[in-house]
Amino acid sequence: MGSVPCPICQRPDQSAMRDGARHLCWHECLTCGEFGMTGTAQAVLGNLSSQQRAVLSAVLKEATMRGDPPIEVSTYNLDSLSSPTRIPRTVGERLERIGRSLETRQEAVGLTVNVIPMDDYPIAFARNAAEFTNMLVLLSEMGRIERPHLGRPTEPLSIRLTANGVEWLDSIRLARPTEGNLVFVGMRFSEEMRPYWEPGFYLGCKEAGYEAKRTDRHPHNEPWIDRIMALIRESRFMVADLSDRAANAGVGFEAGFAKGLGRDVIFTCMDSKWAAAEAAKEENERFGPLVHANFKQFTVIRWKDAADLKEQLRDRILGTIGRHAPLGGAA
Ligand SMILES: [Zn+2]
Repeated sequence: MGSVPCPICQRPDQSAMRDGARHLCWHECLTCGEFGMTGTAQAVLGNLSSQQRAVLSAVLKEATMRGDPPIEVSTYNLDSLSSPTRIPRTVGERLERIGRSLETRQEAVGLTVNVIPMDDYPIAFARNAAEFTNMLVLLSEMGRIERPHLGRPTEPLSIRLTANGVEWLDSIRLARPTEGNLVFVGMRFSEEMRPYWEPGFYLGCKEAGYEAKRTDRHPHNEPWIDRIMALIRESRFMVADLSDRAANAGVGFEAGFAKGLGRDVIFTCMDSKWAAAEAAKEENERFGPLVHANFKQFTVIRWKDAADLKEQLRDRILGTIGRHAPLGGAA
């Protein structure tokens, strides 16, 4: 173990260990948590905005606190891990993250939790300890926590959820179905795709703690759209499979609806279909490419068979969304 500044938040004297066999370095930062980072990813970190760095810290910290295996940051997943689309849309949702963390960390209901702004600020997608401290003040003004005695950012604060705070967290949980473990899979459920559903899509989600749902789709059976939209609303995130050109207008619509609701979308495509589609010039000119240019900004998982799909899908879920942890608690 060496001592280096954290490559993401620049906090000095954090532990790091080189892993020559895997060409990456394992870091343990009091602020960002535990993570691996390849040399090439570290080399391009300087191109990230301060907002993207804050997102990356938040995602890695969250995985660490949940007890997930450390995320390996590479140029392959860096864009996704630091994407500003991950930032909760409202200040209220960021405050809720602090509340959830207090709830998870208290040893018994009603006990205080030690919070260190300098260590804990990524929990709320804050850019630094000062912003996090302001959020604690807001929470106390709202009556969610008792008023903290503020000190230096590296000093622990003793924080306790009030009765109002406990009620607040419960009411949000009950109102929000996305705390659940449902995942909507948008795909063409044809004879050709059938063998990949259970051993590929379904098990890939299940191994990350989620329950995959699909609807049996037929090209001219659009009345199902209400059912599909309801499923997407209930889902924590969506998997959009682009292997079947004939279904992609529908899958694209669903993916856009999911994105609009602030859900993550993981795109997948059978490798042979992708390759064939890239070669089919005439068809592409008539119908547009199999994978529309709009999707290319997202990294599409190209899978070879069911086992490959299962593994890649599971790893992408664990790396970008995290294992499902019931009731927002530790896994
Ligand atoms: Zn850090």
